[in-house]
Amino acid sequence: MDFSLTDEHRLLEQAVREWGAREVAPHIKDLDREHRFDPRILPQMASLGLLGICVPAEYGGAGMDYISLGLASEELEYVDTSLRVIMSVHAGLNCLSLLAWGTEDQKRRYLVPQAQGTQIATFGLTEPAAGSDVRGIQTVAVKNGDRYVLTGEKMWISLADVADNFLVVAWSDLEKKKLRDPSGLTAFLVERKFKGFSSGTLKEKWGILAGNTGFFKMDEMEVPGENVLGRPGEGFKIAMFALDQGRYTVAAGATGLIRACRDASAKYAKERRAFGVEIAQHQLVKAMIAEMESDYQVSRLLWMRAGWLKNVGGRNTREASLAKWYATVASERAAGNAVQVHGANGYSDDYPVGRFYRNCKGAVIYEGTREVHALMQADYVLGFRVDRPTRCELPPFTGGREHG
Ligand SMILES: Cc1cc2nc3c(=O)[nH]c(=O)nc-3n(C[C@H](O)[C@H](O)[C@H](O)COP(=O)(O)OP(=O)(O)OC[C@H]3O[C@@H](n4cnc5c(N)ncnc54)[C@H](O)[C@@H]3O)c2cc1C
Repeated sequence: MDFSLTDEHRLLEQAVREWGAREVAPHIKDLDREHRFDPRILPQMASLGLLGICVPAEYGGAGMDYISLGLASEELEYVDTSLRVIMSVHAGLNCLSLLAWGTEDQKRRYLVPQAQGTQIATFGLTEPAAGSDVRGIQTVAVKNGDRYVLTGEKMWISLADVADNFLVVAWSDLEKKKLRDPSGLTAFLVERKFKGFSSGTLKEKWGILAGNTGFFKMDEMEVPGENVLGRPGEGFKIAMFALDQGRYTVAAGATGLIRACRDASAKYAKERRAFGVEIAQHQLVKAMIAEMESDYQVSRLLWMRAGWLKNVGGRNTREASLAKWYATVASERAAGNAVQVHGANGYSDDYPVGRFYRNCKGAVIYEGTREVHALMQADYVLGFRVDRPTRCELPPFTGGREHG
C-alpha cells in the first residue's frame, strides 16, 4: 500500500480547503443557527468537480480515484458536516451505485447530469418504522404492466427536500415481504417530478443544522420498469453496496471533524491562561489533544486502507465498516474533549466546537449505527459473516499515478 499523495490529490485537497475556508467558513455559524441549507453551495461544489469526483469523464465526472473522494470528504467535514453529507448521499451512495449497477441508458439519463451537478441525488432506505432493520421497511412496489406503482414513506433522508433524484428500496415481492426474505426487495431510480411524490424537511433536528434532512412520500407513484436499478430482487444487495461507498465518505468525514477538533483545541489551549500559564501547559489538557491526534491518525489510515482497496478493485465492506465505526466513535470523543478544552466558551456558539459536538453524533447513527458495526466486526472475527462476490462491483481506478 502506498499512502503518499499524488500531485492531483494535493491540488484537490488544497482547492477544497481554500474554497471551504473562503466561501463557507465565514457563514457557517449563521447558517447553522438559522437552520438554513444554502443551495448556492451545490453549484460551487459542482464547479470544483466534487459532485462527480470519482465518476469517469465519459459520464460527465472528474475521473479521480477513490482516495480523492476520501480527501474531499475529510476537507469538507473539517468545515461543516453538512457539506460532507452532500458527498455521502450524492457522490457516494447514489452516483457510485449507478456507476456499478446502472444500465448504459440509466447512466446517460441520471449519472451524467448528477456527475455534472445539474441534478442532485440522494438515497432513500430508512422509513419511520425501520432503520437498522432494513427488512422491516414497508414501502411496496406493485408491478403493473411495464411499470411499478410505489407506495410508502422514507424518513430521515439527507437532501430529501433538495434532491432531484432518489435511489429508493422497496418490496416488489409481497410474499417475500411477509417472510422477510430480502430477495424480495428491489432498487428504483425515482425522480422528484414523478406524480405522487412529495417531500418535506424535518424541523426538529438538533445537529447538522446547515444541512437538509427530511422525508418523502410516494403515493401510488408510477415508476417505469427501465428505472429498476440492477435486477428485480437485487435491492438489498444494492443497498448494502451503496452503504460500502457511503460509509467510506462518512469515515473520512469524521476524520476531518476530529482534525477540526484538534486544531481548534490546540489554538485555544495556547490562547487561554489558567493558574498563570497557558492551559496547553497542563498535562491533562495535553492528554486530550494527544488523544485527538492519535484518533485522527488512526482514522485516516483506516479510511485510506478502504480507499486503496477500492482503487485496486478489492472488496472493502469489512474495512469500510471498521473505518466508519472507529472514526465516528472517535469523533464523538474528540468533539466532547474539544468542548472540554474550551471550558464554558466551548458551551457557546461563539466557538465552533459546540457545533462539532452536535454534528458528530449523527454519524454514529446513520449508515449503520455504532452497534451495527460492532456486530459486523465481531461476526467477521467469529466467522459468522463472509462477504460473497456481488454481480456488479465498483470499477477499480485505472488512471495513472504520478508522484510529486
Ligand atoms: C442526520 C441523519 C441523516 C440521515 N440520512 C439518511 C439518508 O440519507 N438515507 C437513509 O436511508 N437514511 C438516513 N438516515 C437514517 C439512518 O440511516 C438511520 O437512523 C439508522 O440506520 C438507524 O436506524 P433507526 O434510526 O431506525 O434506529 P433503530 O434501527 O431503531 O435503532 C435504535 C437503536 O437500537 C440499536 N439496535 C437496533 N438493532 C440492533 C441490533 N440488532 N443489535 C444491537 N442494537 C441494535 C441501534 O444501534 C440503535 O442504538 C439519517 C439519519 C440521520 C440522523
